[in-house]
Amino acid sequence: MLLTSGPTREHLDPIRFMTNASSGRMGFALAAAALRRGARVTVISGPVEARAPKGVRLIPVVSASEMLKKTLAEAPKADVLIGAAAVGDWRFRHVSTSKLKRRGPIRLSLAPNRDILAEVGRRPFRPAVVVGFALETTRLLENALKKLRSKNLDLIVANGAESLGAPRTSLTLIWRSGKALRLAPMDKARAALRIVDEAAALLEAPSPERDVLLSRRGRPRC
Ligand code: C5P
Repeated sequence: MLLTSGPTREHLDPIRFMTNASSGRMGFALAAAALRRGARVTVISGPVEARAPKGVRLIPVVSASEMLKKTLAEAPKADVLIGAAAVGDWRFRHVSTSKLKRRGPIRLSLAPNRDILAEVGRRPFRPAVVVGFALETTRLLENALKKLRSKNLDLIVANGAESLGAPRTSLTLIWRSGKALRLAPMDKARAALRIVDEAAALLEAPSPERDVLLSRRGRPRC
């Protein structure tokens, strides 16, 4: 299982950067849950204070483009990819190699980052099951379903902004068919086990498309 986790960090100069409030707690909880279920787990994590669970192969990254590069390199080896990272949407167009001097108003120009899950989702070596998260403040289900389709995901986990950095979370799971399941609020460790189990169930579910993806990795179904 391959996981992206934590925030990304976009530098403006060697000292200053733009980031977000992700603690990486959900990603590491997913990693611990997957280990508990017997998976071999690689986590590509942005800068976080939290420590990865013991037994995880950790690939630390800083920026979204580094995370993309490492994910594309690791994805062909994974059966399941869960994108739990809060990937920054923009990066600074110009990055200074020395500390910028303080002066009056400054105009900063941003360029959009590439979408990691969407890029992996459309490749022929795509993991057999790809799961994403959708943090929405409005029209949770509608927007999450749109995301699931545009990124070619198998399952999307929708949550509100209150989950960010918090120990508990209230999730809605949405499948490709449009089926949605709202779960009662629970701590992230329990939520993680549920998500890992749903991803494993998809891996085992009959699907000619997934059989092709798994056989490309030389993994017959058990
Ligand atoms: O589009 P949005 O950022 O809301 O999508 C969230 C989902 O997409 C998460 O699973 C996140 O890890 C993933 N994502 C990504 N690359 C980006 C932006 C989001 O993989 N550049």
